[in-house]
Amino acid sequence: MQVEKNRVVRFHYTLTGEDGLEIESTRNGDPIAALYGKSRLITGLRNALEGKGEGDTFQVTVPPEDAYGERIEGLVRRVPKKHVRDGAKMRPGMIAVIGTQSGPRQATVLKAGMSVLDVDFNHPFAGRTLNFDVEIVEVREADEEEIAHGHVHGKGGHEH
Ligand code: ZN
Repeated sequence: MQVEKNRVVRFHYTLTGEDGLEIESTRNGDPIAALYGKSRLITGLRNALEGKGEGDTFQVTVPPEDAYGERIEGLVRRVPKKHVRDGAKMRPGMIAVIGTQSGPRQATVLKAGMSVLDVDFNHPFAGRTLNFDVEIVEVREADEEEIAHGHVHGKGGHEH
């Protein structure tokens, strides 16, 4: 069975950067599950998965425009710690959750001062070319409930 819309695909991946260093991998744990066409996958990975079958392995190099976009200068901001969840505990490199007018948003902490934090609202992978090494573990039809909910149930998915 091939990966296509309204099918569930479970796969392992190892993600490396341009430098060949591993960023993250599922291979020490469970594969991730996606409802193809519904789950949020980056464009480059979604395109590479389409039509692949159970047991297939492949590598794909995804440029920023098909991943998390280019870095945007000007998304570095200084925010009062009191607007940040656990603001007092934030250190450079940590992901902060900041209350904004449009709701909570994540940002990477660049610098921590006495009462303010300098944070970068760019996605941590913005501007990076990403290499995925993928192994497809399972492809199956999604059931009606999964399609209605827009996500996978059971192994690797929502438990409810
Ligand atoms: Zn559900």
